[in-house]
Formats: sequence, structure tokens, C-alpha cells
Amino acid sequence: MIIDCHGHYTTEPAGLGVFRDRQLAGLVDATRRPTTTNLGITDDEIRQSLEGAQLKLQRERGTDVTIFSPRASGMAHHVGTAQTSAEWTRICNDLIHRVCTLYPRNFVGVCQLPQSPGVEPRRCGEELERCVTELGFIGCNLNPDPSGGYWRDPPLSDRWWYPLYEKMVDLDVPAMIHVSSSCNPCFHATGAHYINADTSAFMQFLTSDLFRDFPTLKFIIPHGGGAVPYHWGRYRGLAQDMKRPPLSEHLLNNVFFDTCVYHLPGIELLTKVIPIDNILFASEMVGAVRGVDPQTGHNYDDTARYLHQVAALSDQDRCKIFEGNARKVYGRLNSYLERRERLSPVESTA
Ligand SMILES: [Zn+2]
Repeated sequence: MIIDCHGHYTTEPAGLGVFRDRQLAGLVDATRRPTTTNLGITDDEIRQSLEGAQLKLQRERGTDVTIFSPRASGMAHHVGTAQTSAEWTRICNDLIHRVCTLYPRNFVGVCQLPQSPGVEPRRCGEELERCVTELGFIGCNLNPDPSGGYWRDPPLSDRWWYPLYEKMVDLDVPAMIHVSSSCNPCFHATGAHYINADTSAFMQFLTSDLFRDFPTLKFIIPHGGGAVPYHWGRYRGLAQDMKRPPLSEHLLNNVFFDTCVYHLPGIELLTKVIPIDNILFASEMVGAVRGVDPQTGHNYDDTARYLHQVAALSDQDRCKIFEGNARKVYGRLNSYLERRERLSPVESTA
């Protein structure tokens, strides 16, 4: 089985953007606020938005299930107030739920959180619980920098975040560390801000005792872990200088990396440096890099292809990366997969 742990709804029907434009216009002129949260999006529009994109790619690439969340750059927690974020988050999560209901064999949901700069993360607990217990979601995307590139909130190791972590542990859901768009012109969103955040989150974990306080808390660091695997010696050495335990004990029961690295040498390095048990298959399609690599003739984000090409991986290693590790990290994935087993293939494309 191939489980892609990192997919966003980047092909949403136009109704979502129309609502967002009105919501943002309403921040400067209250008369332009949307009068309803009903997007007017039909099931057929949702089907159309996926058939030529994510579903087509799933079929072509042999992906069985995508762990699916709202468009990451669209979260834009820095825009408007906490109320703006809460309203927008609920709408985006509900739309993911509709996708997962229409295609229960293809998608299982991960939610965005109603974060807002300077607002305590404890306030995200209610929406997380709603998504997990009512909508059947199995994780969340946690933005370590809701300010959108200015890093104004405390680091992930701060007690500021603890009430949200307590909720995650209670619900048995992991978080993918995922920033949103950048409003800092120094940081290109997907090329710099994303990778910076992945790297920064890892270092925040390294310098803290977070996982002594939360031994079962789990995070996925996407985009191959940012700069971390490439600089693994630096991080091991820094931990050693700081009298921290070896990274294998200190972080690797709790921190996992995805495979959104868009070339073979990068995947070779990732799978050589990071223990196989800590790597989860992902492509982030349809996402950050949509083109075809002229050197290979294949899409950059066709990451399964690279994993099949790494000669050093055994079949067992690939099995863990494609399926087994996701089942361990997402505590609620197994029961979803059991329900999925009972669905007929016909229902999947209803
Ligand atoms: Zn992403």
C-alpha cells in the first residue's frame, strides 16, 4: 500500500476563493463581509476539481490514500484577527471533510488550525477536537510561525504551546509542522520560508526537553526535513556540545521526516542519513513544484519514483516508508484503513 502523508487541496473550486476575497474585503469595509458561510460549492464541482488533478495523479503513481489538508499557503494565519482565522479555518476544514466523504478510499483528512499571531494555541483545541471526533481527521498542520515570516510567537518548545500538545496527545493525533505564506519579502514562501521553518522547528526541538514532557507527542517535519538531513552531523555535534542525549533517543521517537525532496540524490541522502523508521512517504502533490524535470522526463514531485530507484533500500524498508511508518505515526490511521477496507471500490469514485 502507498500512503502519501502530505497532500493539499490546491485545486479548490472557485467558490472558496470568492468567499476568502469577501472575507478579506470585509476586514477593511464591514459592508463587504460575506453574509453566509455557505460557499455554494456543489459536489460535482468538488469532483471536477479532483478528477483531473489529485485523483489522476494518484492513479498514475499508484498512491492508495492521500492524507489531505487545506492549501497550506492559504491558511495565512497572519491575515485579519483570530476571528477571521477561526471562520476561515472551519470553512477550509469542512471542505476537506466533503472531499473525504466523496472519496473515502482516496483521502483522509488533516486539519488546519485557527492560529493567529500572538493568540494562545490553546484556542485551537476546540477546532482540532471537532475535526478529529466529528469529521474523522487523523492529524493537524501546525504553523510554527503564524506571523508569516517574522517569527513573533514563542518557539515550539515553549509552554505557550503545551495546551495544544496536551490535546494532540489526548486525541492521539500528530502534527505536521507547516508554515503558510510568507509576508516577509526576504523569504520566498515555498523556496525559503517552508524550508527555514522545517529546519528551525527541528532545532527548537533539539534544544528543548519537550519530549520528556510529552513522550508520545509526534511531529512530521515535511519537505524532507528542511536542511536537517543534509546537516545531520552538525545537529548531532550541536546536541553533543549541549550535553543533550544522542538524537536517536532525544528526538527520533517523536520526530519524523517526509520524502518531499524532489530529486534522486536528495532521497538517497535522506534514506542514508535518517533511520528508515523515521521516514514517511509524501509527494505534496499538487503542490509547490508542478513541473517536469528535463533531466528525468518526470515530474519533480513524483517522489515514489526516486524511492524505487534507491538501490540501498530493501523491500522491507520501502514498505515501512510507504505504509508502515505512517500507521505508527498517525494513531488513527489504522482504524480509518479498516473502515476503508470495507468500502467497495465503486463507492470510492461515487
Ligand atoms: Zn505542504
